[in-house]
Amino acid sequence: MKPAAFRYHAPKTVDEAIAILAEVAADDGRVLAGGQSLVPTMAFRLAKPGHLVDINGVAALKRVGIEDGKLVIGACVRHAAFHQPVCEGPLGKLLTDVVKHIAHYPIRNRGTFCGSLAHADPSSEWCLVLTALDGEVLAKSARGERVIAARDFFKGIMSTALRDDELLVEARLPILAADTRCGFNEFSRRAGDYALAAALACFRIENGKIVEPRLALGGAEVNPRRIPEAEKALIGAAPGDQAFRAAAHAAAAAIDPMVDITTDAEFRRDLVLAVTRRALERAAA
Ligand SMILES: Cc1cc2nc3c(=O)[nH]c(=O)nc-3n(C[C@H](O)[C@H](O)[C@H](O)COP(=O)(O)OP(=O)(O)OC[C@H]3O[C@@H](n4cnc5c(N)ncnc54)[C@H](O)[C@@H]3O)c2cc1C
Repeated sequence: MKPAAFRYHAPKTVDEAIAILAEVAADDGRVLAGGQSLVPTMAFRLAKPGHLVDINGVAALKRVGIEDGKLVIGACVRHAAFHQPVCEGPLGKLLTDVVKHIAHYPIRNRGTFCGSLAHADPSSEWCLVLTALDGEVLAKSARGERVIAARDFFKGIMSTALRDDELLVEARLPILAADTRCGFNEFSRRAGDYALAAALACFRIENGKIVEPRLALGGAEVNPRRIPEAEKALIGAAPGDQAFRAAAHAAAAAIDPMVDITTDAEFRRDLVLAVTRRALERAAA
């Protein structure tokens, strides 16, 4: 099927983009980034936006770099940018580990990091990364700008705190200390499919004990989130099988699992048990 008719706008600056959005938001005006989620939904006529504001010509949104101790990822930075480390240290390596799990190569060449955040699929790997690391996003509209913390950004399945006239200008991730260990694991039925459950673990080791653990899950609940019960099981423990199993059991017990036609709650808890333990093992390796 072909999409319903829409008006196409091609701003060249952020100010131009937000001025157009201010005009067209009420008529279901949408930002077009990589188009890898929006265009298929339009083709199925599940979405019929009256206007598309194509941000691909806005050069200022293509930057990725470090600013004030944070990795700043502009709205037009594509998944494929992370095939190589975009910064030194554990954060750059973590992003190269994670990106391989997102869809397939052609989709990674068009889809964007920030588009994934705005789309807010519960299984999105980048939504999980933003949440696990307590990142933030910068949103701009003709009314002004605001910074939204990851914990306040995701509002349910494919729903975010972004208002209709707001452009997600950039995402920001904290730079991780050089001795931070990170591990990611996900389960999907076929390579490139959305994950049925995914876990991201980060911690440091001091005097043989785990410090500053972060354990977040994606694909298991309506939004990605850090799991305090699992983090508690890790603090001060010696990194190893006993602590990792305890954390995995705590994570599986703590979730309110999504249920769908192929995945019941029990199966999802089992997957969380497995991906959590594997993510922790990878971090420790
Ligand atoms: C077959 C297939 C498999 C996939 N598998 C995965 C997967 O395993 N993991 C995964 O994470 N994703 C997967 N995706 C989705 C892909 O990663 C998309 O790139 C991503 O979800 C959306 O990014 P985009 O840049 O393409 O956004 P678009 O499709 O352009 O936009 C998506 C939505 O976000 C809004 N939006 C986009 N950018 C902004 C912005 N800067 N400000 C405000 N609103 C904005 C749009 O208006 C639209 O509503 C898959 C897609 C396909 C087709």
